[in-house]
This record gives sequence, C-alpha cells and structure tokens, in this order.
Amino acid sequence: MSQDPYELLGVGRDADADTIKKAYRKLARQLHPDVNPDPESQERFKQVTAAYEVLSDPDKRAAYDRGGDPFGGGFGGQGAGFSFTDIMDAFFGGNAGAGAGRGPRPRMRRGQDALIRIEVELAEAAFGVSRELKVDTAVRCTTCGGEGAAPGSHPVPCESCRGAGEVAHVQRSFLGEIRTLRPCAACRGFGTVIPDPCRECAGDGRVRSRRTLTVKIPAGVDNGTRVQLSEQGEVGPGGGPAGDLYVEIHVAPHEVFERHGNDLHCAVTVPMTAAALGTTIELPTLEADLPASEDVERSFDLQVPPGTQSGHQVVLRGRGVPGLRGGRGDLAVTIAVDTPTRLDPRQEELLRELAAIRGEERPTGDVRPAHKSVFGRLRDAFTAH
Ligand code: ZN
Repeated sequence: MSQDPYELLGVGRDADADTIKKAYRKLARQLHPDVNPDPESQERFKQVTAAYEVLSDPDKRAAYDRGGDPFGGGFGGQGAGFSFTDIMDAFFGGNAGAGAGRGPRPRMRRGQDALIRIEVELAEAAFGVSRELKVDTAVRCTTCGGEGAAPGSHPVPCESCRGAGEVAHVQRSFLGEIRTLRPCAACRGFGTVIPDPCRECAGDGRVRSRRTLTVKIPAGVDNGTRVQLSEQGEVGPGGGPAGDLYVEIHVAPHEVFERHGNDLHCAVTVPMTAAALGTTIELPTLEADLPASEDVERSFDLQVPPGTQSGHQVVLRGRGVPGLRGGRGDLAVTIAVDTPTRLDPRQEELLRELAAIRGEERPTGDVRPAHKSVFGRLRDAFTAH
C-alpha cells in the first residue's frame, strides 16, 4: 500500500482541511462497503479512512509531515505515541495492522502534475488574455472506467498472497528465524490481479489523449509566472484523480518597451534643435498592441520642454504594467539628443553664427568629477523616484 496519506486521498501536501474532507468524502462514497462490497474496495475504504484520520488531525498530520511513518511502527523514538495500527484497530475493531501491516497498495493513485510553457506578447501579459491550448495528458480510460479490467470483468484477489499484497519471507540464521514481509511478486503488491485487462488501456486505467483547453491568463503575469489549473494534469493509474496542470508564462521581448517589474522603459531620440526649442512627440502606449476592437488609448503626447538634456528621463505615472494585485507601474522615457552629423554649407554657417552669438566658438569645457557632470546630476534625479 502507499505510504503516503496524501497520495491515498489524492490531495496536495498543502491541501487545506476542507479539501481533505471533500477528497475523503468523495472516495468514501465510491468505496463504502454498502456500495462496493468487493474485498478490494473494502480494503481501500479502510486505507483512505486511515489516511483521513491522519490528515484531519492537525497534530498527527504535523507529525507525519515531520517525517513520521503512519503505516509503519508509529513514531517510536519521537515520543509522539501515535501508531497507524492503533487507528485501524480503533476504527475497524480488527487486526488490520497485524504483523508489519502494510497490506496491499491501492491501484488507484493520484496522477502527476503537468507543465506546459507558452509564449505571450508583452501586452497580453500586461492586460490578460485567453489562450486555447492543446494539452496531451493521460485521461481516464472510458472503456473500463479506470478500473483496468475488461468490461464485464473485475480484479480478483491474488492467489499467491491471498489479497494481502505481501508475502512472508523466512530466513534462517544463527540468531534464529528472521521473518520479513515483501511485496507479492504475483500481484506487484496490489493484492489483486486483473485476469482480463482492458484492451484499450492494457490494464492501466488511462489512455493518452489530446484535448483543447481554454486558459485565462490574468493581467500582470511576468516571465516565469505559473498559472495553476486544478485537476487538468495527468490522470492517476487505476482511475485516480488527476494532478494539476501548470501553464508557465514566457513573455516575448517587445520592440519598444523593456519591462522592469511593473515599470516599462523606452528611449526616444529628438534632434538637437527640438531639444533646445522644446517639442511634442507622439508615443505609442502598450495598449496599442491590443486588438483593434478594444477601445483604448493607443498613443499619447510626450512634452519635451525647451532645453532638454540628453539622458533626461521623464516618468509617466500609471503607464506601465498592471500589477497582479492591482495598481499599475510607471513608464520611464529616456530622451537622447541627436547631434547632426552631416551639415550642408548653409547649416554650418547658421550653427557657426549661433555659436558666435552664444560665445561658444572656443568652449573651454566644463571639467569636473563625473558625478557632478550633467549625467551625474540627471542620474541623481532619477533615483529620487
Ligand atoms: Zn481501460
């Protein structure tokens, strides 16, 4: 039998009390002896009930999480004084835990989690998007309903171990007889064999299938964010509940905006004359990437004041990426001043005239430590934000 009460109930290790209770009730309804009198179901009913006893008691659950073995000899040595067989006996009034007491392991187990990675555009990550995904996972076999036995047949108790799932192995040594229990080789520890396996799934209870799923990706996701889809992962063997499906987001680089957390950065180059005289530049918003059907602001005017220096940064509040928990980041625009490189004679004449008027024909250069330069002062201004 499985050692893990979480696995027996098909819940995650971080499942809350309510989830555990629901999982137990669901299994108990399927396996209750009144509904399912066959020996395997009765045995599994005992197992899931025992697992529930462990996980529904905060102390016992904590003791198990610390590394105790509820299906072995209790927590001897740790002084917790709890033994799985005690619970079994208390609840079923029998010697369910006689001997090593591991019993057969269930054929039904929780399936594995699955992970798929998808690439989204920056605007999709920022504002959310619905995606159709092709998912290739194990699903329950519809021919046998997950049981693994061909229609009309059922698993039968294993003759080698009489349904115990394990066989005693006796070894003689000079100390006397050493008796150990080993999983039964004939039934691989299940305690039952499937005499006529389902042809569709070869007795596994599940088949591979390709499905199309619609995933809602919430606004504000970033590179590496995982969206969890409960019970959309691999179905477990023997008709066990499915694991979860995780969709990992990869955000494609944007041609204009660079993302830093929830802030966006971009750079804009203006001609030297415009930087000196001031101007207005139309910049695209991130919303410009959204489908044309959406009524959003797709551009805005950035004011470049007269006398703007190269490297000056303008921070526009609330034009960044929406946060997963509300709020919205900023957009930082860095302005670069473009110095003209090819001057025709007339332009050169004008610039020389301007330099003469401004007394800048032979500038001496304003030499000072780097941190006091125009760039250093600008940098100080940015970090103040
Ligand atoms: Zn099948």
